[in-house]
Amino acid sequence: MHDKAAEFIVVGAGAAGLGIAWHLADKGKKVILLEAKEPGGGAMTASAGMLSPAYEAEYEELPLLRAMLESRQRYPEWIAYLGDVGYEDSGTYELALTPEDVPYVRRRYEFERQQGLEVEWMEGTELRKRLPHLSTRIPAGTYAPQDGHVIPEMLKARLIEAFLSTGGILYAQTPVLRIEHRPPGFILHTPYTIYQAETVIVCVGVPLEGLELPFRVYPVRGQMVSVENPAFGWLPAPVRYYNRMMGYGYAVPKKTYIILGGTTEEKGADPSLTLGGVMDILRRAYYVFPDLYEVRIVRMWAGLRPATASRTPFLAHEPGTRLFFVNGLYRNGILLLPLIAEGVTQWVLEGNLPPSLQPFYQDRSLLR
Ligand SMILES: Cc1cc2nc3c(=O)[nH]c(=O)nc-3n(C[C@H](O)[C@H](O)[C@H](O)COP(=O)(O)OP(=O)(O)OC[C@H]3O[C@@H](n4cnc5c(N)ncnc54)[C@H](O)[C@@H]3O)c2cc1C
Repeated sequence: MHDKAAEFIVVGAGAAGLGIAWHLADKGKKVILLEAKEPGGGAMTASAGMLSPAYEAEYEELPLLRAMLESRQRYPEWIAYLGDVGYEDSGTYELALTPEDVPYVRRRYEFERQQGLEVEWMEGTELRKRLPHLSTRIPAGTYAPQDGHVIPEMLKARLIEAFLSTGGILYAQTPVLRIEHRPPGFILHTPYTIYQAETVIVCVGVPLEGLELPFRVYPVRGQMVSVENPAFGWLPAPVRYYNRMMGYGYAVPKKTYIILGGTTEEKGADPSLTLGGVMDILRRAYYVFPDLYEVRIVRMWAGLRPATASRTPFLAHEPGTRLFFVNGLYRNGILLLPLIAEGVTQWVLEGNLPPSLQPFYQDRSLLR
């Protein structure tokens, strides 16, 4: 029996779509979730799973910082319903790689403190007591004890289970090609059949299969490498590092492997791995942790972060209809998930966004 109509259809089973669909189904709504490929196969499972508001917001992004902090705070309670998502409440380090980088990291530290974040300044010797494999070249850094991380694959699996167990219906390999407004609802065209709903929430990240959106999404490629974790506790917490010449990088420890990230490249919708991208990642990681030289590489991959022109979340609604868009989660869709899932569900059901998401609401004039 193939269900083709529901009160709600969510398009795209990535981070946002899975979270929102689960919350709607959990409230007793009939929800169909349509996914072009495999659930979580977009940016979601390409991600490192860092929950790191302290080190993500730029100086001009205070509403985003507030949203990330609120979402971070909600995480433990939110995942309590989901089960094991590999959540680690480890804190995160940010390092200056050379003495020239110290003023940059210091300036960020002062900004973070001004914003009321818990962040500690640490000299190199102090850092090495906590991170024994850190290069002796690292002069200084900071530690944000409230940051953490999850395993995106596990988060995806728990969200799918939760959605299905609340009666949700998920169709993978079902790309939406076109969304047609047929009052009072919508018809969604896929290659095989059509679906109908009164309310449609489009969470496609970087859209596939030619689906046209009324705004532009800029894919930002992130290449990643994972290596074997030499030993339990080898790296006790995620470490982010910055150098004026080498750029940003990070190392995020999971149980058996360490994720080394990541590039930030605007190359269109091209998820290729490149020699230069992988080399940059490895060069930075080796500079910070020379002991990684002998470890085995486990995997390399690339994903596309969905960014809009503002580089902040993008929440839009076609006036007079029940068509909603959730996009622009860019580098923070895993961190923002509790807030997005709960807040968008409230918006769709009650018509109002929580205050921390209101700055990201785009009015009609911004739509193409
Ligand atoms: C390399 C990398 C590292 C990252 N690290 C972190 C991190 O450490 N912490 C963090 O918080 N965030 C991180 N992110 C960002 C995070 O992964 C994204 O912000 C998040 O996944 C975006 O969620 P989304 O649901 O909008 O898009 P996606 O997760 O990409 O999901 C969109 C889904 O829609 C589907 N879709 C597309 N078109 C159609 C269509 N026409 N019909 C049906 N389905 C369609 C796609 O197949 C996909 O499954 C990282 C991202 C990358 C790429």
